[in-house]
Amino acid sequence: MTRMVSAREAGLVACNRCELVHEASISHCERCGARLHSRKPFSLQRVWAWWVAGLIAYIPANLYPMLTTQQLGTVHSETIVGGVITLIELGSIGIAAIIFFASVVVPISKFLIIAFLAISVLRPSGMSAHSRLHLHHVIEFIGRWSMIDVFVVALLAALVQLGAAASVEPGPAAACFALSVAFTMLSAQAFDPRLIWDAPVRKEPAT
Ligand SMILES: [Zn+2]
Repeated sequence: MTRMVSAREAGLVACNRCELVHEASISHCERCGARLHSRKPFSLQRVWAWWVAGLIAYIPANLYPMLTTQQLGTVHSETIVGGVITLIELGSIGIAAIIFFASVVVPISKFLIIAFLAISVLRPSGMSAHSRLHLHHVIEFIGRWSMIDVFVVALLAALVQLGAAASVEPGPAAACFALSVAFTMLSAQAFDPRLIWDAPVRKEPAT
C-alpha cells in the first residue's frame, strides 16, 4: 500500500484554531496568532494521565452505591451492577440493558480503545490507519452518551421527592462515575489523531 505524505513530512503545519497552513519553521499563526504545533505537545503523556485518572475514578463508581432510596424508613443502596440485577428481577430488561451498556460496556470499551490507539501509534498494529481514525471518531462521539447513568440518577432524585415517605438520592458512585466519564473524554481529546498517520517506528520522541 502506498503511504500518503503527511503535512509534517512535507514541511507544513496547519493552525489548530483557524486551519491556516504555514511553513513548519513558523512558530505562531500569522492570521490568528495561535501557537503552531505539528502534533499536540505531550499528546500521549496527557492521554495516559487522563486515562489512569479515569480508571481510578471508575473503580469507586462500581464499588459504591449509585443510588440510595429511602422508603418508609427503609434505606436501600444500589451499585451499578446491583441496580442492573434488580431491574432484571423486576422485569425491566430493556432499561437494565441500557444501563448495563452505558455504564459497563461503553466505559470499558472506551478504556480499551483509547489504550489501543495510544499504543498503536508507537508500535505497528494490525489495524489500518483509516480504521483507527474511525475508532477515534467513535470514541469522541460516544463520550457524552456515557453520562446517561448520571442523568438517570439526577432525574430520579429530582422526580421522586415525596418528602418523608420516599426519597431518592445519588450515592457517592454517581460523582465518581461523572468524573470517570469526564476524565476519559479528556483522554480521548488529548489524543492527536494526526499521530496515526506518522510511521509506527519513529526516529524522534512523540512530543
Ligand atoms: Zn490560526
